[in-house]
Amino acid sequence: MFTLAIVGRPNVGKSTLFNRLVGRRLALVDDQPGVTRDLREGEAKLADLRFTVIDTAGLEDVTDDSLQGRMRRLTERAVDMADVCLFVVDARTGITPTDEVFADILRRRAPRVILAANKAEGAAGESGVLEAYGLGLGEPLRISAEHGEGMSDLMSVLRPVS
Ligand code: GDP
Ligand code: MG
Repeated sequence: MFTLAIVGRPNVGKSTLFNRLVGRRLALVDDQPGVTRDLREGEAKLADLRFTVIDTAGLEDVTDDSLQGRMRRLTERAVDMADVCLFVVDARTGITPTDEVFADILRRRAPRVILAANKAEGAAGESGVLEAYGLGLGEPLRISAEHGEGMSDLMSVLRPVS
């Protein structure tokens, strides 16, 4: 068993992925800010692979002023609990300055990072996927948490961790 932390800025689809992996609605998903809080842990199942997964939330309800500090503390907590981090970016919006802040935290602190470009169902978000290469965290996995695409690729990169 290993622990995977799902990290990234608000609204990239972390909780949607968490719910897909855990298969129960342990994390709230919402379009609106202020719905999910702090850290959630669940037992994930991806085909025959079992692991603990942590969803980082609690960033949706803070003001811009406090977002950076809170984001940093929460992400660092999750990173320290995890064997591997899944850094989720939004392929449709592309890489933002906030994504760069997360990338910096992960580069300095996380022993192992898997980069995932979410919302890439069909051929969507290809330019965002290309931008994600520029983060210097390796090849982004194209996934769709909502539609379940890219889950076997995710399993392939996670399997050696277990
Ligand atoms: P979080 O803030 O990172 O936890 O993001 P959520 O999981 O709450 O998702 C934010 C929004 O993105 C919601 O409206 C989701 O329905 C949407 N979303 C999540 N995953 C996908 C995806 O794979 N494709 C698309 N098109 N939308 C997604
Ligand atoms: Mg969330």
